[in-house]
Amino acid sequence: MQTSETLDLKSLIRSIPDYPKTGIIFRDITSLIAHGAGFKQSVRQLVDPYRGQGIDKIVGIEARGFIFGGAMAEQLGVGFVPIRKQGKLPGEVIGQDYALEYGTDRIELHADAIKAGEKILLVDDLIATGGTAAAAVDLLRRAGADIVGSAFVIDLPELGGTDALRAKGVDVHCLIAFE
Ligand code: AMP
Repeated sequence: MQTSETLDLKSLIRSIPDYPKTGIIFRDITSLIAHGAGFKQSVRQLVDPYRGQGIDKIVGIEARGFIFGGAMAEQLGVGFVPIRKQGKLPGEVIGQDYALEYGTDRIELHADAIKAGEKILLVDDLIATGGTAAAAVDLLRRAGADIVGSAFVIDLPELGGTDALRAKGVDVHCLIAFE
């Protein structure tokens, strides 16, 4: 019998070939979060390794990191801080550029969102090359954050993102891998 804590989360992820472009298999978490027990289990499994570690804030990366991060913050009883794409945050921001396959992108954080020394858990739905998460780590460290770890629902190990993040001294926890 399957209990509410032993769902096969991977089977709840929908895979959509050739989105957003040919050759990419998009790993779609909307089918996971629409499943009540699946969403609950994924949030608990993301947060469990970091319980009792004095986390002050969860930081989620736009946009799907907000869905899991908000629920994780509620679980720990701590605040939630968004990292957003350029131009979306209304207050004073600090920003970080990072390389894409073609060109660059920029993420931003409210300048007053993190106090120096605060213990942070970084969250996103998926880590691929790790470029986005690495930029978030650089941005948070510039803000004075103590990054206790990072949590992702999905890892694409062939793209090396978790290794890149660990090389920056960040603990990485993922629930599912797609080879
Ligand atoms: P990266 O910076 O290469 O680690 O890419 C991670 C970001 O891109 C995350 O915010 C993901 O939501 C998104 N992403 C990258 N590849 C995929 C994929 N195959 N399926 C769904 N989202 C992806």
